[in-house]
Amino acid sequence: MARRPPQDDSNAPQWLIQKARVILPDRITEPCDVLIQKGCIAAIGLRGKERLRRDPEEVRQIDIQGDYLAPGMVDIHVHGGRGTDFMDGTLDAFRIACTAHLQHGTTTILPTSTTASPDQIDRFLTAAGQYRDGWNRSWGAWMPGVHLYGPFFAAGKTGCHSPEEARAPEAREYLKYLRSGLVLVATSAAELPGAVGFYRAALGAGCLVTCGHSNATWGEMAAGWRAGMRHVDHFWCAMSSIPSLRARCGVPMQASMAEFVLAEPTMSTEVIADGCHLSPELLQFARRMIGPDRLCLVTDSNRAMDMPPGRYRFGNAQSGPWFESDGQVGWASTGSLASSVQGMDHMVRGMVRQGKATLFEAFRMASLTPARLIGLDAQVGSIAPGKKADLLVFSKSLKLKSVMLHGEWVHGSMARGNSSLS
Ligand SMILES: [Zn+2]
Ligand SMILES: [Zn+2]
Repeated sequence: MARRPPQDDSNAPQWLIQKARVILPDRITEPCDVLIQKGCIAAIGLRGKERLRRDPEEVRQIDIQGDYLAPGMVDIHVHGGRGTDFMDGTLDAFRIACTAHLQHGTTTILPTSTTASPDQIDRFLTAAGQYRDGWNRSWGAWMPGVHLYGPFFAAGKTGCHSPEEARAPEAREYLKYLRSGLVLVATSAAELPGAVGFYRAALGAGCLVTCGHSNATWGEMAAGWRAGMRHVDHFWCAMSSIPSLRARCGVPMQASMAEFVLAEPTMSTEVIADGCHLSPELLQFARRMIGPDRLCLVTDSNRAMDMPPGRYRFGNAQSGPWFESDGQVGWASTGSLASSVQGMDHMVRGMVRQGKATLFEAFRMASLTPARLIGLDAQVGSIAPGKKADLLVFSKSLKLKSVMLHGEWVHGSMARGNSSLS
């Protein structure tokens, strides 16, 4: 599949970020320097100063005084923000939502479809192509592709998505989507007729293949796994459980998607750590039993992020079902949750404070693990020489202060020119 390199950053300014507590995948450094050249991370620690001595080009220096320097986050499951949903299907909607999420620390974003008509999914993909191909930093987070999430959901498991638009995967519909070259993550419920063919086609298109909004049995998961399915969307939400399968299949009781993920080391999943979807002990359980290398943090946030409490549509602005945001989370009219209204900075704090993850584990779940699952970890996902300079400055109390995207400050005090430049 065509995976375009990001824009040419050869003219981006050179930066030396000083006294940074660098959050690496497995530890946090003592305060040290990070050198940024041509939009990429050039050196960490003393090597940065050595390189500058050999190559004393003009460099802007910034002292972050022991604050954390974290990797830009990678959100593989996100519907919208700041009043727009990606299913609105316009370039403007993409720019607004991708800017909102960038300001919460997401530097790489995979806009995520809902259940919708084929026309609406076509418009979503067209807008995604326009955003990816015309992108520059002022538009918002970098978007290498999308998550084809709805419409292939199981009846009775559609959650806040429109149930009328849920359907089984048919090649004549999904091959067109996969041939767009935009789909990096592809979801279907494993028990639907045609799911195995969809999984094979998505694997062939280079996607991370996932099962979600599903009441699948272990046997259906195993058949999906043999066809390349390796991930489950938002663990514990809209997925099968032993009781849900007892209702579907009777006795003997059946193992569910949860047991399949817990038992199968090649499976990965994701959690919504907003404090509303999952209790602290469930986040702690996921961290201990699944671990930071196969557990992602996602926002799953909708258009009500960064908006006042009120009534909003989930998915397309004209036809999506209504939900209510209380400012903390979305609520469907049925009384069940309707996805989150928080950004990735909030999810990392949730995984640390409620999930009891170490800071570097929480950031690994929000950056390197999702980047690896979508095949982009050579470019983004951690603070390492050669990778894109996607960097976040967090205070000691985990407040996001500044965002650097591909080597330029795009949000926070540094972007506003308040830094002490030399
Ligand atoms: Zn969902
Ligand atoms: Zn979702």
